[in-house]
Amino acid sequence: MPATSSPKEPRDLRFLILGAGMSGILSAIKLQEAGLNDFAIYEKAKRLGGTWRENRYPGVACDVPSHLYSYSFAPNPDWSHRFAPGSEIQAYFEEVARKYGVDQQIQYGKEVTRCVFENGRWQIEFSDGTQDEGDILLAATGVLHHPAYPEIKGLESFEGKTFHSARWDESASMAGKRVGVIGTGSTAIQIVSALAPEVAKLTLFQRTAQWVMPQQNPTYTAEEKNEFRVHPEILEGLRSDISRLFADGFSNAVVDANSPQLAAIEAVCLQNLEENIKDPTLREKLRPDYRAACKRLIMSEDFYDAIQRPNAELVTEGIDRIEKSGIRTVDGKLHELDVLVLATGFRVDRFMRPMEVIGRNGVSLEDAWAKRPSAYMAISIPDFPNLFMLNGPNGPVGNFSLIEVAELQFAYIMQLVELIRTRRCSEVSASQEATDRFDANRVEAAKKTVWQTGCRSWYLDDRGVPAAWPWTFDRFREEMATPHFSEYELC
Ligand code: NAP
Repeated sequence: MPATSSPKEPRDLRFLILGAGMSGILSAIKLQEAGLNDFAIYEKAKRLGGTWRENRYPGVACDVPSHLYSYSFAPNPDWSHRFAPGSEIQAYFEEVARKYGVDQQIQYGKEVTRCVFENGRWQIEFSDGTQDEGDILLAATGVLHHPAYPEIKGLESFEGKTFHSARWDESASMAGKRVGVIGTGSTAIQIVSALAPEVAKLTLFQRTAQWVMPQQNPTYTAEEKNEFRVHPEILEGLRSDISRLFADGFSNAVVDANSPQLAAIEAVCLQNLEENIKDPTLREKLRPDYRAACKRLIMSEDFYDAIQRPNAELVTEGIDRIEKSGIRTVDGKLHELDVLVLATGFRVDRFMRPMEVIGRNGVSLEDAWAKRPSAYMAISIPDFPNLFMLNGPNGPVGNFSLIEVAELQFAYIMQLVELIRTRRCSEVSASQEATDRFDANRVEAAKKTVWQTGCRSWYLDDRGVPAAWPWTFDRFREEMATPHFSEYELC
């Protein structure tokens, strides 16, 4: 229960923001807007931008329309395409951070190694031996951040260049090279589509076929951009239309495996496969044996063209090992390569880790998450008071705007912070009981989702349960509007 409800002078709070990606920049701008100017943003890299700083592979783009994948308060009339390329998104975050003056407040090269809750405050330590302390810890450290490297025999013996998709080696020239790509996730598909026309030979090593939703990516004309600039209300309308379309047509559909929208998505993907892959053998290799959108749906207008090029090959035989000159598949064939790209995804259960995070009574996050990460409403962890996560575990991760998600989460977090600022309590963390109940309800609801209809994907946890928000996006919006304080320990 709140310690007291009598009006007192509000507390001055110091905020520590971990990470200068999309959510960290958002947090800083929103704190500033609320007049809460005592904050620090710590970023371990030398540049802001998170995902968009790290993913610089050829073809990188966001498969959420750019006018939705923008902050609601910073619309961008200048997006070049419906789905803008990654470099433009990176430039957008840099520009927004500059415009709102938060770029000057980011401390770069500051890797947080330890966060300890002591005497009602968070003490944090950095790899360079320095320290800081504050009242509220905002973890904006991202989900798709730690590369997952495949455990394939002989990987280190390859004599050509090899790197993970999120660690693109810009010094590796691709023109005229034989390039291999392992993986068929959103990343690999974008890489293949962009690289196939440039390289001598492109070999895609597919473990699992993907459903591909044909998605055109038109450019915006100078007239359209001008109209967006002159009539911001048009841009606002466009954004809200896309948001509604995404919620109704996709986010609300994937959580109901029997929904008609999902059947429609499946039909479009199937038609794309049947009509656009000419060779029946290739078509069968590309035909998934699970439901569309069970894995994250691929949106692409050019992958099928790319994989049907004469210089492209789809290899579906399993990989036996990697040798110095290429990949040997289980049928004994050696696929010779000059460059090997590992588009093998991310360790999505890490979140803030490997940071050591110690909460109330010495409890460590490593122990609290020994089985798997969880957080009440994806935001708060029992016994980790005044630590709030943006895009934390079990949040919405379907094909929709994580910016919209983070904005809703931030507004929710601020209502919790307000309890502390106005001295109604000094520590806020979800109760264990509420977290257990939330988890149990989430696991139950997930049974209805398409993610649990029989495929392997990064959405699934160690038990095969989707570690994602299993309800509609509308429900997420409603839940984020007002926290239930009774679900929290306030002391
Ligand atoms: P991913 O979806 O996790 O895909 C990893 C791929 O690597 C899968 O095809 C997987 O095969 C394969 N793989 C992993 N280990 C392997 C091994 N040992 N041998 C053979 N294949 C192996 O990763 P991602 O493509 O980087 O995408 C991750 C997420 O990033 C996406 O789902 C999306 O949320 C986000 N993303 C978004 C965009 C965008 O446009 N907004 C673009 C790129 C990425 P299996 O399928 O058989 O497991």
